[in-house]
Amino acid sequence: SGVGAQQEREITLQEWLSKWETGNIGFHKERGHPLLQKYLDVLLNGRSGLRIFFPLCGKAVEMKWLADMGHTVVGVDVSEQALKDFFAEHSLPYCEKPVPEIAGAKKLQTTSGNIVLYCCNVYDLSSSIIGKFDGVWDRGALVAVNPRDRNRYVSLMITLMEKGSSYLLVTVSYDPNKYKGPPFYVPESEIKSLFG
Ligand code: SAH
Repeated sequence: SGVGAQQEREITLQEWLSKWETGNIGFHKERGHPLLQKYLDVLLNGRSGLRIFFPLCGKAVEMKWLADMGHTVVGVDVSEQALKDFFAEHSLPYCEKPVPEIAGAKKLQTTSGNIVLYCCNVYDLSSSIIGKFDGVWDRGALVAVNPRDRNRYVSLMITLMEKGSSYLLVTVSYDPNKYKGPPFYVPESEIKSLFG
């Protein structure tokens, strides 16, 4: 019962891929997330030309917003379809590049390189491959990782953060006995212990 109800849940990468294939993507927000607009100042903290990371990015339109403001955006998603849809839906020309450090991975990027989207498992990334970031937009990401992988996920995020960077996290609050997720319920106490 309680939070334990979701502890054993596991969504495979294959299941995420089939969600994209069948258009079962109710999580996608065509008009972007109002909380990014609300907390943009917290993310930017008066800085310009930032490197911003979008873990488990899907085709989040906020990537385009931030790139248009002059920031560099790096995202990762296991679904190539999601990433291709992103570029297509914003009429952004892009090219594909291999990622020599990760078997089977590739990156899709705009010609100017201001948006770089990695197609791979997030856990294959490291700061030596993608560098460090001044800001992270985590919406539909921590709440989408399998409950037993949360530690691993957050540890990775911490290694990707530059000193003085900001991390905006969106979670959902509901009774985990009544809905199996994703998105999973991550209680505030767990968020505190995960990020320390
Ligand atoms: N953040 C996006 C998408 C949220 S849905 C948004 O706000 O719309 C979660 C996304 O994570 C899906 O697109 C899924 O394909 C991707 N995903 C899930 N597990 C992953 C993993 N281990 N590595 C990379 N991508 C993953």
